[in-house]
Amino acid sequence: MNARNTKYLLSWIELSAAALDHNIKSLVRLAGKRKLAVCVKANAYGHGLAEMVTQLNNRPEIDYLTVHSLDEAILCRVSGWERRIMILGPVANADLEAVFEYDLEPVVSSRETLDGLGQISKKRDQQLRTHLKLETGTNRQGVTEKELGPIARLYKKYSGLKKPYGASMHFANIEDTTNHEYAQHQLKRFRNMVTQMTRLGIKPTIRHTACSAALILFDKTHFDLVRPGIALYGHWPSKETYLSYRLAGGKNDIFEPVLTWKTRVTQTKDIPADAFIGYGCTYQTTSKTGLAVLPIGYADGYNRSLSNLAHVLIRGKRAPVRGRVCMNLTMVDITDIRGVRPESPVTLIGRQRQEMVSCEQLADWSGTISYEILARIAPHIPRIFVSK
Ligand SMILES: *Cc1c(COP(=O)(O)O)cnc(C)c1O
Repeated sequence: MNARNTKYLLSWIELSAAALDHNIKSLVRLAGKRKLAVCVKANAYGHGLAEMVTQLNNRPEIDYLTVHSLDEAILCRVSGWERRIMILGPVANADLEAVFEYDLEPVVSSRETLDGLGQISKKRDQQLRTHLKLETGTNRQGVTEKELGPIARLYKKYSGLKKPYGASMHFANIEDTTNHEYAQHQLKRFRNMVTQMTRLGIKPTIRHTACSAALILFDKTHFDLVRPGIALYGHWPSKETYLSYRLAGGKNDIFEPVLTWKTRVTQTKDIPADAFIGYGCTYQTTSKTGLAVLPIGYADGYNRSLSNLAHVLIRGKRAPVRGRVCMNLTMVDITDIRGVRPESPVTLIGRQRQEMVSCEQLADWSGTISYEILARIAPHIPRIFVSK
């Protein structure tokens, strides 16, 4: 089987190179002179890490990839990425040596990690670029103001570290609201802490705070480097971010979704009135019904909470999900869609003719956000870049 030829696939993801190009240009415009670090954590927001890295390799505008874990960072290297990589999440103490071996830049938010890195830098006689994460009110990762003194001493103790290359923070409440007071408050704390770092003799070379929403909405969060994620893939962080941007006079078309999720009908059948469909008998027909069985289920990331709620697109028309989404299969109603055959193409996320199912729509149906819908699309589904 040739996995690259979608003719032979029952479920696959198409990635638009044109949309990616468009989004990168928008990010470059927003970032201006700052360094651009794009986020490829969570399997590149479900788009496929290796596939995305292969594309991003051809874009010299991008200075950094940011990832959550060491494993993701190594996968970026294995996929040919030679530029800089920042690890946003924790690295196990036992794995710290790999940070040096793969030339990675960890974001450090604990003294233990910093000390561990310092010891290895000494042992290897090797310099390391670190980024210090500052706690400004998200209460997730980050060192507090009180810890800055001991942190400064650790930096000075190890000549391989000297001082942090970067100082960073992450906003708690910038995408889910149109009220940005808390973000302003965090920004103020960030500035204060950086001033304190300077006083302690560990002035960072660069500062960075901006996720997609901050990059899109607030110039003063940009500092020296920006770290967008979801916008690279053509999605707004939230309705609130979109609204804030449009109210400020921003243009509509700066991002285009990169991902389309497709599958094929495996079987069609006619079932009588008063018949039940699927596990739990949650749907009962009221009249003679045409059904199509799709080879997709919650194990693929097509969420069970979409049962009896979502629709898919077949022949440019909406086919509602009937009954429960199963582990590997889903049934949809095609009573009013003519000409559906085994292997007819189906769109789960994306555009088909005049119709569109957005990942934001799936998120609404599932009671979640687009980030989760994308991140949970199973890695086993082939990802294929198409030029359009
Ligand atoms: C995920 C993440 C980002 C990117 O966030 P988006 O909202 O997808 O742009 C930036 N910084 C940190 C620390 C992150 O964890």
